Amino acid sequence: MTPSHNILNCRFDAVNEAGAAQWARETLRSGKRGHISTVNVAILMMMRSDPRLKQYIDDSGLIVADGQPLIWLSKLLRKPLPERVAGVELVHELVNVASQENAGIYLMGATQDIVEDVAKKLSEQTSNAQFVGVQDGYFSHEESKARAQAIRESGAKLLIVAMGVPRQEQFLQDHWEELNVQLAIGVGGSFDVIAGRTKRAPQWMQTVGLEWFFRMSQEPRRLAKRYFITNSQFIWLSGWALLGHFLGLGKTGTPSDARQPLT
Ligand code: UDP
Repeated sequence: MTPSHNILNCRFDAVNEAGAAQWARETLRSGKRGHISTVNVAILMMMRSDPRLKQYIDDSGLIVADGQPLIWLSKLLRKPLPERVAGVELVHELVNVASQENAGIYLMGATQDIVEDVAKKLSEQTSNAQFVGVQDGYFSHEESKARAQAIRESGAKLLIVAMGVPRQEQFLQDHWEELNVQLAIGVGGSFDVIAGRTKRAPQWMQTVGLEWFFRMSQEPRRLAKRYFITNSQFIWLSGWALLGHFLGLGKTGTPSDARQPLT
């Protein structure tokens, strides 16, 4: 079993990218079903005010930390996570694994031209990838059942959804049984990055934990407030957790009044 740690009230599995790919391979081979969650600071904070999202993530077969600050915090709390595992990289890994296991892949998310570009790019990278469905992520609540049915009928074993958080998690949660896929993952805005529509932060910014700043500078009006709230909350909660740790209180959590709803 994969070792895991509770950090700020969320389970994180101590795996690196290769370990996550291995977990996916074993799941496909075993005939079992499970979903992977990539949790960054913003999602970790969102979970505190969104019980459905928290439930979905808690129920994941594998939870990985998608952000350098989470890795630093894990080390300071002596609950070390080996490395950051980002959604964009996992897309490539999972497509490789599914292709080696001869499993059909369904891509859903972003606009139709972007998701088609993603399928093309991934096919160039993994020539034997079998894309059994390539669909945009824009549909109404009423249409979501038909979308789930189409995924089921495609016979896909791996479903990659890129519709933003918590939209993608809600879809997977609402339709998990009928989807009948073996492996699912929500990867937020990763399709935009793979298709080259949005830029990824340079490696040095990722390494020093400033990927959020890069993203924010691309869309400041939409993201400044969000990151200000989630980052401040994260710093505050981490401070409490570290204080508890160094005082030997064995705390992973924080005082309940620190839970502020996100706006
Ligand atoms: N997206 C989607 N369906 C929607 C809304 C968004 O497929 O109804 C896609 C969007 O095109 C983008 C990704 O989800 O590729 C992430 O969107 P956004 O940046 O708005 O999500 P956030 O970062 O705010 O969670």
